[in-house]
Amino acid sequence: MERGEMIINLEKYKGKFKTVSLAFDEDTKTDLITNGLDVVFISKDEIRLYPDNLSLSEDRNMIEKLYKAHNYDVYELCENGRLSKYYDGSSIDNYFFVTAKCNSNCIMCPSPDYSRQQGGSTHVDHLIKIAKHIPSDASHLTITGGEPFLIGREIFRFIAFLRDKFEYTEFLFLTNGRIFAIDSYVQQFIETCPQRSLIAIPIHGSNAKIHDTITQAEASFDQTVLGIRKLLKAGVHIELRIVVSKMNVKDLNNIALLIVNQFSNVEYVSIIAMEMTGSARVNQEKVWISYREAAKAAIEASMILLKNGIDVKLYNFPLCTVKREFWTLCEKSISTSKVRYGNVCHNCKVKKSCGGVFAGTMSFEEGELCAVI
Ligand code: SF4
Repeated sequence: MERGEMIINLEKYKGKFKTVSLAFDEDTKTDLITNGLDVVFISKDEIRLYPDNLSLSEDRNMIEKLYKAHNYDVYELCENGRLSKYYDGSSIDNYFFVTAKCNSNCIMCPSPDYSRQQGGSTHVDHLIKIAKHIPSDASHLTITGGEPFLIGREIFRFIAFLRDKFEYTEFLFLTNGRIFAIDSYVQQFIETCPQRSLIAIPIHGSNAKIHDTITQAEASFDQTVLGIRKLLKAGVHIELRIVVSKMNVKDLNNIALLIVNQFSNVEYVSIIAMEMTGSARVNQEKVWISYREAAKAAIEASMILLKNGIDVKLYNFPLCTVKREFWTLCEKSISTSKVRYGNVCHNCKVKKSCGGVFAGTMSFEEGELCAVI
């Protein structure tokens, strides 16, 4: 997953790696320093690091660029002076990236294969350090990976910190759910999780054959289904996710029926169009189907769920590829840094309500977008 980029090179800086909060006025600066946090203070003439009281730059262009950020935004300042965004108070897309590793190897994963096998993890102490910088009134935070629970039970130290600091924040945990086949993980999660937590788990097929072929991980279907069952029994709020690809498009109705029959007490089901980067791009012949074909199947499955009282959301579908009467199910789900619109979108009357297309999927849409006029 990419973070919305804001990178500045402060070449004068030669110190240690630091997590810093931004301040644009004296009150914010004092508040942050009083709370023991490192601060980058931006005035009209200078960028300065506190409490070190060190000038980082007087470059007008850099100051201007940073003025697009906000008080209390969180950045990472590297040893080479690279200042990069971690948390943006004006966005609802903020996330903690726990690890790139995953115990599944989904054929349509937007991350590349090597990152799931060899990618790094963030130490829990570092995650907590970042969380200390994030204002306690943050509206929404996501915990993601890879598979975040792969770092083992250490993750609960981080989750407990989040629970204690962020009383009103909504948390979304993105996981393949396999770890929750183990009772003690379910128990530890319910003992530790913040009050407003939602776990989002993907189901790729209505049976082990289809699901495990997509995850390329034997027994993953059985573990995920068992995990979902145990979490629901323990009262955890769950979103189930179905990513539509060529490999499961004919099975969508069966997945919907599985959910109706076994998991009808989920919060909602989101049916998702693919992001064609990483493994998805490498495996495009096996996985890509047109938006319209995916949307048609998604709507059929949605009808089954809705008729049975289960809420549905459609993620990543441009409005013009979905029948108009189902637009109310469509969410603007692509983050600002990744969203793109085609040339035809300039004349489209619904552009403001439309979630557009992933940058990485743009080259696949092949004339499917059609301005609504
Ligand atoms: S033409 Fe563009 S803006 Fe309009 S619905 Fe399609 S993707 Fe969205």
